[in-house]
This record gives sequence, structure tokens and C-alpha cells, in this order.
Amino acid sequence: SDERFVRGEEAVSAQQAEKSSMPRRYQLFIGGQWVDAESGKTFNSINPATGEVLAEVAEADKADIDKAVEAARRAFEGRWSKVSARDRGRLLYKLAQLIDARAKELAALETADNGKPIRESLYVDLPEVVEHFEYFAGMATKIEGETIPVPGRLFNYTVREPVGVCGAIIPWNYPLVMAAWKLAPALAAGNTVVLKPAEQTPVTALELGRLIQEAGFPDGVVNIVPGFGETAGAALASHPGIDKIAFTGSTEVGKKIARAAAENLTKVSLELGGKSPNIIFADADLEQAVNGALMGIFFNQGQVCTAGSRIFVDERIKDDFLAQFRERAERIRLGDPMDKQTQMGPQVSEEQLKKVKYYVHLAHEEGATLVTGGEQPQLEGALARGYFFRPTIFADVKNEMRVAQEEIFGPVAAVITFKDEEELIEQANRTIYGLSAGVWTRDIVRAHRLAREIRAGVVWINTYNIFNAASPFGGYKQSGYGREMGKHAIELYTQVKSVWIDLSGRPLGWYSR
Ligand code: NAD
Repeated sequence: SDERFVRGEEAVSAQQAEKSSMPRRYQLFIGGQWVDAESGKTFNSINPATGEVLAEVAEADKADIDKAVEAARRAFEGRWSKVSARDRGRLLYKLAQLIDARAKELAALETADNGKPIRESLYVDLPEVVEHFEYFAGMATKIEGETIPVPGRLFNYTVREPVGVCGAIIPWNYPLVMAAWKLAPALAAGNTVVLKPAEQTPVTALELGRLIQEAGFPDGVVNIVPGFGETAGAALASHPGIDKIAFTGSTEVGKKIARAAAENLTKVSLELGGKSPNIIFADADLEQAVNGALMGIFFNQGQVCTAGSRIFVDERIKDDFLAQFRERAERIRLGDPMDKQTQMGPQVSEEQLKKVKYYVHLAHEEGATLVTGGEQPQLEGALARGYFFRPTIFADVKNEMRVAQEEIFGPVAAVITFKDEEELIEQANRTIYGLSAGVWTRDIVRAHRLAREIRAGVVWINTYNIFNAASPFGGYKQSGYGREMGKHAIELYTQVKSVWIDLSGRPLGWYSR
């Protein structure tokens, strides 16, 4: 059960403190200084459980991005270039410890800003962030070149050098985790970073800035510039002063990033959207598969890039599966995300809520059958103004329908039945995306066959939504390119230099005297 994420510790007293200290104020973090935006503008970050203002945040635009890129360039060419790999690792480890020590407070802030249940932010997000910085702390001293056995009296070796100044643009669904995925490998490899958090959830990234200072990173190594996509984000992606841009977000914006970067031939890595198949065979352990389906589509309110949003079920077990899936979905405890019993919080914003409602309307129009949900719950008090939506299941969905092809990014499951494996594989792969897939079966041969046939960057067999800092993650097709996490992430943040040395001591002699 998903209870296994809760390690039985008593949760969270910081939530009370959090409620009383609103709204907070944040400036931009540039060159080791906390500064207002050049324009003096600010924007509000909203608590989606209540619609109240959580924080007033300085709003970066082009002029601030210019300053941040300059600061990152100075740091890259100055002090940071003289810090040894070991010391970079020690700084990252120190940062991991500081985050760990403040995990409860950061989790409460993450929940207040994003709406995710505290039991997710505290027991999943924060441990993953700490693990990520720890993993790449160890990696800093293990970034190595090679010697190449070339012919002749020559010696050829490679070195892996940092790419330089990296721009990072991240989404709102895992604000701190996404910041960690970008920062940890970039810093381990000796780069400097300008990070633009999502406008919906800038708060914890800015708190991370404080800890980066406290850990002792030189000024300008990390710069944090919250702002909107079309202004701050676009200015960063198109900036001629950055060497690499790392983006996580929607496929639509990913294409804009790639176009903007093309102008300067800036290197790009993209982690984009998905519409992942979660496939349940008739021989699966039904209890496991139902749990996997719930985890796939309702975790983090369905706002997960790997969401198992297309559930393919063998038609022979469809009725049993749907009965159990429905019953369990209806038991999901929806409510105050600060309550440690809560299993589902609000959607991140009013805009997301509207998008979810639109797709529910569309599913009806397309002829799918509503099994459960499909509306906002009735909640009391301040929560009545929150952006909550009930766990929703549609059956009788066809893979060609828009609800099965377009990313909803909310708690809406599309259940599609299948008869035979070949047809299933063809349908599962018929999508522009290729981020992940789940397969539920007790047949080991079939499991591996499916793992080979599915065109996606991650395949989970009899499990779902499992990640680890050591394991590469990224998409096929329009789900992006580049792999984050593990050793693969270092490839994104280094470039290879090949060095040749003559060992003969003689002239080349090609042009004779
Ligand atoms: P989004 O693409 O709208 O925004 C992501 C980030 O890009 C934000 O910081 C935003 O300000 C910025 N942005 C928006 N327009 C921009 C522009 N024109 N130029 C530069 N930056 C711009 O996505 P979102 O709604 O924040 O997040 C949801 C999406 O993220 C989903 O599609 C989801 O699948 C994807 N996602 C993918 C992964 C992954 O690893 N593959 C992980 C999490 C989320």
C-alpha cells in the first residue's frame, strides 16, 4: 500500500508555524545578494488549498536575468573554477545536511505553496532532495576522463570539463525536487547556475538559496530568479551568455525553449510531458495492480509527468478491476494538505483546476463513461475556496480520444480495455509521448517482452513511480531528450576535451623541406 512511504514518524509541527507567518516576502538571489527586481515589481504566490497569498515575491525580468547570468559567469571564471572536486562534493554534502535538518519546515512550506499533502512533501519530496544532493556530492570526485589507445607514438586522453553557466527552468509540481535534479549534478561537475523556479511555486527554491549561502558556496555559483515564463524564462532560454539550458515542463514550452536556444546553439536538455500507459494483464495480482493504478494517477493530485493516465486493462478483468479501483479512489482522503491524514490536496492553481474541468467535460462529450468523481468536492471553511477536484475515473475510453492523447496533469484516469497483447502494444505506443510505462503481470517472459516493446524512458514492472538518484530518468519521443540522475546526468553538465601529445619528439614531416 502507499502507506509504505510513511515511516511511522510523528509528522509535522511546523505546519502551525507556517499558517501563522503568512504572507512571507522574498527577494531575488543574485551574486550572493538578496535584491529587489530592477523593475521593483513583485508577484504573489498563492496557497492553493485556500486561495490565500502565501508570499510576495520579487519578479525577475530580462534585466535581472542579465545580472544573474553575469554573476554566474564571474563565479564560473573566478572563485568556483579554483574549488577542487573534493570541496565541491563537501559543499553539496553540507547542503544535503542543512536541508535534512530543516526538512519539516521545508516540507510544510512546499505543501503551503504547492498544495501537495504533507505526507508526500515530508516523506517523499524532502528525502528525495536530500538523497539527490548526497548522491552528487559523492559524484563530484568521480568525474573522469579516459585514455584512448590511438596508433603511433602519440598519447591521447580526454578530460570532462564543466559546460559553464547553466540556465535551469523548472515546473511547479515538484518544486524542490526539480531544483535538486538540476542543481546537484550541475554543481558537482563544476558549473554555475541561474535557476528560474515556476511562478506558481517559487518559495522553497528561494529558501534553498538561503541554505546554499549557509553551506558556503561562493557568491554567484547559484542564482535564483523567480518570474514568469514569457518574461524571465524566455530571457534565460534565449540568453547568449549561457552555455546550457536544462528545462523541465510541458512539451509545448519545451519546443519554445529548444527554438530559443537554437539561436545561440546553446546546449539543451528537456524533461517534458507524458501520457503514460499503465498496463494490467489478466494474470496480474489484482490488489497490487489496483494500488499501482491509484499511485499512477492520484499521487500528487495527478500532477506527475509520469502519471499512469492511460490505464489499459485486459477486458476479461475489467469489471473486477473497475469495481476495486472505484472503491479505493472514493476512499482517498481529500482535504487540508497540512493534515498528515490527507491523501489528496488541491490542484496547484485555478488555471490547472480549469484545465481538469475542461477535460472532464471533453471526456463526456467524447463518449467516455464517468465511473467516479468528475467534480469538485464540498469542503468546509477556508478550504471551500481551494482548487480541489475529486479523484476521477473514466471507463470506455478509446486510445484515439483526446482525453487519452493529451496530458491533463490532474487526477483523471482514462481506462481503456484490450483483448490481445499485440494490439495492446501498438495502442500503448500510439502517443506522441514516451516518458514511462507500468506493466502488471505475473508472467516474467511477458514482463520483459513488454519492457522491450514499449517506447519509453522508464518501464516499471509490478510497481510504479519509483525513482532513485542513481537511476537515469528521461523521455523518448516528445517527452524530451537527455537523461537526468545517475551517472548520465553528468553527461548533461560536462563536455569532453580530447588532448593529443606527441611522444616521438620528431616533426610531423608531412610537408618535406
Ligand atoms: P510549463 O511548461 O508551463 O512551465 C514550466 C516552466 O517553464 C515554468 O518555470 C514556466 O515559467 C516556464 N516557462 C513557461 N513558458 C516559458 C517560455 N516561453 N520560455 C521559457 N520558460 C517558460 O509547465 P508546468 O505547467 O509548470 O508543468 C507541468 C508540465 O511539466 C507537464 O507537462 C509535465 O509533464 C511536465 N513535467 C515533466 C517532468 C519530467 O521530468 N519529464 C517533470 C515534471 C513536470
